[in-house]
Amino acid sequence: MLITSEHSGVTLFKMGRSIGPHVPYWVHAFLVDDLLIDTGAVAARREFLDALRGRTVRTVVNTHHHEDHAGNNAALASLCAPVILAHTKAIPWIADPSRMSLRAYQLVVWKRHDGSRARPIGPTVETANHSFEVIFTPGHSFDHISLYEPDRRWLFTGDLFCGRKIKYFRRDEDYGLLLESIEKLADLDIETIFCGLLGVVHNGRKMLADKAAFMSKLRNDARELSASGLSPRSITRRLMGREGAMYYITGGHYAKVNAVKSILAGGPVDQWPV
Ligand SMILES: [Zn+2]
Repeated sequence: MLITSEHSGVTLFKMGRSIGPHVPYWVHAFLVDDLLIDTGAVAARREFLDALRGRTVRTVVNTHHHEDHAGNNAALASLCAPVILAHTKAIPWIADPSRMSLRAYQLVVWKRHDGSRARPIGPTVETANHSFEVIFTPGHSFDHISLYEPDRRWLFTGDLFCGRKIKYFRRDEDYGLLLESIEKLADLDIETIFCGLLGVVHNGRKMLADKAAFMSKLRNDARELSASGLSPRSITRRLMGREGAMYYITGGHYAKVNAVKSILAGGPVDQWPV
């Protein structure tokens, strides 16, 4: 399923795979002038390419290498041969997605994608009407970048923001680095966040500051409870409640307890590749 909409000259492509009457997880790609920010998932390829017909894409930026953000790079490469830009750490993973060991739920929801050739992104990306600053924002992944357009006070955050609270956490997310990245972005003058999960989010600077405050408090509380002898599972239940459906659907890849474990370990539960 794909839903196209416009916001202040940005075209939003909201896409996800229908499973029965439900779309379990959405992801957005954004088109500004001839710059496409992320390419969505293979599961929505046909609808996405149809929606791009008649539009010009000269440059693609991948905010990170995940299968729902670089999924249609290869299809676009054969359609209109855009220049694909990403952080240097993302490039080998975009070239060879088989390096990612996708779980069953990822293959069902997003499907596996083909590799594509990306080039290292520079400090800025220019389009006809905008200049975007490229900001390295690791945490959700090791290669994550965000794009800031200071004149319009726009911030494109890939999978970095995704709401003011932490409802679940991936096993390969780094809590401390995610918080650092969000604090760094909260210093910017931002009105609109273009979020990979949520689409348009207004009052962006406050939203980021709220998230940073939530994460900071959760970290302090988790450390205190750990010092008093509670296990990560007990801390999680005390601070975040019981695990929800995502825990069971993803086999624990998305789980509340991963946030607590990452806080206490000072790094991701599943270590990043070196
Ligand atoms: Zn991601």
